[in-house]
Amino acid sequence: MNENNECIFCEIGAGNAPAEKVYEDDDVVAFLDISPNNHGHTLVIPKDHFENLYVLPGEILCKMMLIVQKLSIVVREATQADGVNIMMNNEPSAGQVVMHAHIHIIPRHEKEEWPHFPHKAYIGEEMQAVAEKIKNCFTR
Ligand code: 5GP
Ligand code: ZN
Repeated sequence: MNENNECIFCEIGAGNAPAEKVYEDDDVVAFLDISPNNHGHTLVIPKDHFENLYVLPGEILCKMMLIVQKLSIVVREATQADGVNIMMNNEPSAGQVVMHAHIHIIPRHEKEEWPHFPHKAYIGEEMQAVAEKIKNCFTR
């Protein structure tokens, strides 16, 4: 939703804005990303407006993930890809631009030599300390 209460993915979900849809049911729509990272880059969204992963009802999330699984296989085949990335950006700090939850399916090809995420290192006891913090938050 922007400041004018407009959401392009709500409009696509409702059929009020054009999109190259590749799947649709009562709750979920999948369509091609207008500005793909690779041809076949697909977005899976709930029809109802939920901002991100944190607030998606579990039932809708499960439906989305089953579609993501099926579409990963068929998008991979249709684009003659060698693999797929599944990605979800949550909040602007993670790169979310459209504030309507969506899962990216991005076909990958051996020849493009996909650069993996840059990695960092833990020093000393840092790894255990981070794990403790996560476990404490999880059980709260
Ligand atoms: P985010 O960075 O929010 O995870 O990704 C949003 C994605 O939505 C971007 O990859 C962008 O190209 C795509 N996108 C934004 N507006 C539209 C649109 O109107 N139609 C389609 N098909 N894709 C869109
Ligand atoms: Zn929306």
